[in-house]
Amino acid sequence: MAEEKNKTQLLREKLMKSDKLPFKSLSPEEIAKADEFCEGYKAFLDASPVEREAVEYTVRLAREKGFVPFDPETSYKAGDRVYLINRGKAVALAVIGKNGVRNGARLAIAHIDSPRVDLKPTPLYEANNLALFKTHYYGGLKKYQWTAIPLTLHGRVVKLDGTTVDIKWGDEPDESCFCITDLLPHLAQEQAAKTMSKAFTGEDLNVLVGSRPLPGAEDDKELVKLNVMAVLNEKYGITENDFLSAELCLVPSFKAKDIGFDRSMIGGYGHDDKVCAYPAAVAAFDTELPECTCITYLTDKEEIGSEGNTGMQSDFLRYFIYDLAKLDGIEGYRAVSSSACLSADVNAAFDPTYASAFEANNSSYLNGGVVISKYTGHGGKYDTSDASAEYMGRIRSLLEKNDILWQIGELGRVDLGGGGTIAKYVANMNVDVIDLGVPVLSMHAPFEIVSKTDVYMAYRAFYEFFAEK
Ligand code: MN
Ligand code: MN
Repeated sequence: MAEEKNKTQLLREKLMKSDKLPFKSLSPEEIAKADEFCEGYKAFLDASPVEREAVEYTVRLAREKGFVPFDPETSYKAGDRVYLINRGKAVALAVIGKNGVRNGARLAIAHIDSPRVDLKPTPLYEANNLALFKTHYYGGLKKYQWTAIPLTLHGRVVKLDGTTVDIKWGDEPDESCFCITDLLPHLAQEQAAKTMSKAFTGEDLNVLVGSRPLPGAEDDKELVKLNVMAVLNEKYGITENDFLSAELCLVPSFKAKDIGFDRSMIGGYGHDDKVCAYPAAVAAFDTELPECTCITYLTDKEEIGSEGNTGMQSDFLRYFIYDLAKLDGIEGYRAVSSSACLSADVNAAFDPTYASAFEANNSSYLNGGVVISKYTGHGGKYDTSDASAEYMGRIRSLLEKNDILWQIGELGRVDLGGGGTIAKYVANMNVDVIDLGVPVLSMHAPFEIVSKTDVYMAYRAFYEFFAEK
């Protein structure tokens, strides 16, 4: 027979915050479901290193699930499923609710861009008989992490005649790839004495793309560069001037892989923020007849401040909701103002190796479940939407009611640095919003790590948010 609890123990249970230990509360069945869910996620991650590819893959899945292109001139009934693409780089998926958007929409918004290395408009040059690309990195990255790893080239080129060419080079095992070189340690004494931002500068991120002169050449002028252009012209029909109207970038060429003897984690490029984008998209796929119209929006440009017409600061999503409101016979601003949003983005997971960067009581942990951040920003709560106690209370009780493993998480120690999400731009639309996502180790590195059960808990959170009455 179990020993009877004393008064102190009973009081502690009643009054103190319990530390949930994940694998104690998750059943083997639930863990198996998480593992299975993550097989679909890994396929998405491998197919979607850049936003255009994430949109294509998501739309392909959506069409299989009965989603059709949105037409603002059509009327829709509850349960109808539509999608709307923004310039090939962002996509909204909507399941029409019984009340339409008369009481607002439920929004789950994740971003599908990730830190990477973009080509400059005039990228190709030859130096000391090597051909290289000049680059301008995209998003916040530790530059040294991008040297001496295999990279693959992705993107689109628009030729002078208006035709487009999609480039993907370096993904297949038998394909060549590319690399940013680094200085050997034997000669790195000066480099090692510098601070990290000076040891590796943006102009050092030059990508090695060729070394062999054009065979059988009749002069000796830039023959390595000419040979690279000859290869590109043969495969894609492009010339050097076509780089001027192109969006090309380098991303790591390694695929998602299970991590650990227990296979409990996934390593991969671009978890931030495909690890929230995929669960939010699947939550929309699995939603059938919601009360309020549910919208998963996968947006672009979060890593550079949500700028531009495909980023969250653009009016694209607002206008989509206006169109839905018009169909329901109400003013667009009313539909927007009564909407509620989960800003689906990752948070830094507590890393015991770098414990001093975190404040243990308010950090998120791998396997602790989906993480809620009431606010992001930096010292003094600048540059963030700070969710109200009321909205935090609503989401907290939603998660508890549905037995979803969750935790609270600030990014790291106050005054150490910080970061933002799309939440503040959604808040500016007069929408209640809070950050909810997956904790990540090595965030913004070429190979980031997440826990499978956390990914699954994110899916469950988005699904139950959409199902909320
Ligand atoms: Mn993010
Ligand atoms: Mn990020």
